[in-house]
Amino acid sequence: MPICWLISEEGNHKPIHLPHLQTVVVGRGPETTIKDKKCSRQQVELKAECNKGYVKVKQFKADPTGNHSSTKRPRELTPEDSKSQGEAQKMKATKQTEKVSVPVSHGETTKTSEGAGHWSQGLKTSMQDPKMQIYKDDKVVVIKDKYPKARHHWLVLPWQSIPSLKALRKEDCDLVKHMQQVADRMVEQCPDSSSLRFRTGYHAIPSMSHVHLHVISQDFDSPCLKNKKHWNSFTTDYFVDSREVIQMLETHGKVMVKEGTAELLKLPLRCHVCFKELPTIPALKLHLASHFPR
Ligand code: AMP
Ligand code: ZN
Repeated sequence: MPICWLISEEGNHKPIHLPHLQTVVVGRGPETTIKDKKCSRQQVELKAECNKGYVKVKQFKADPTGNHSSTKRPRELTPEDSKSQGEAQKMKATKQTEKVSVPVSHGETTKTSEGAGHWSQGLKTSMQDPKMQIYKDDKVVVIKDKYPKARHHWLVLPWQSIPSLKALRKEDCDLVKHMQQVADRMVEQCPDSSSLRFRTGYHAIPSMSHVHLHVISQDFDSPCLKNKKHWNSFTTDYFVDSREVIQMLETHGKVMVKEGTAELLKLPLRCHVCFKELPTIPALKLHLASHFPR
């Protein structure tokens, strides 16, 4: 369970521990070093829900807006925050206006904030981890996907900090072409490349920050492929071929995502080889085994 602290950004007081689901009342006094009489001794009631990554803030003092209770969204956490505190989760507050930061890594599915300690920033950590790196040069790094959706699934990431596909511009064309070349080389060197087809492309609406090119074998034989969203993200137009991205950058100077793309994730499960519709993921997996025997 993550730990939550109330921290003064100016360093005015020692961190105040906010235990999970326990109400902590803070205000003017030695604990916060707040002396301003406009702040009452019981200014706010804080209740951390560490597992969910947020803190409920209830203000006691009459509030002209009439809002006496609110749930603050966590603020972005800097890498320094996470470095200095390790696993400890932090919440920062200035004297009267709270800025909370509770980075919680929930793995792949639970969405909370988007601070540096948040799961959506995980690729930035993985790409720096020598144990995850399988290739690197001066422009890009290749890592294994942590939750591979097929027998072979890698991600090519540029060292340059580019948040997403949307942020790519014409001047990034050479970089994106290099990412493609590296991906092609990865496939060539894979012992299964003679028997398995590979695709290289981007999710039109990625969930992870830092632009990344998926290199994925088309067997989709993996326990990490668990749901319709996973399936459709790789087998519909939600998956945008790398060459198409390069073409869009060359022609339009940016990558255009078609309206309704998000809806593609809800399409029925359909085999990408023979187009047969399958009712469930287990049925689909059974069916895929006939196309891709081990
Ligand atoms: P998307 O953002 O939808 O293009 O996909 C992100 C990919 O990153 C998924 O295939 C995840 O399995 C993978 N992934 C998620 N977290 C990590 C991580 N910390 N390290 C490496 N790969 C990850
Ligand atoms: Zn089929």
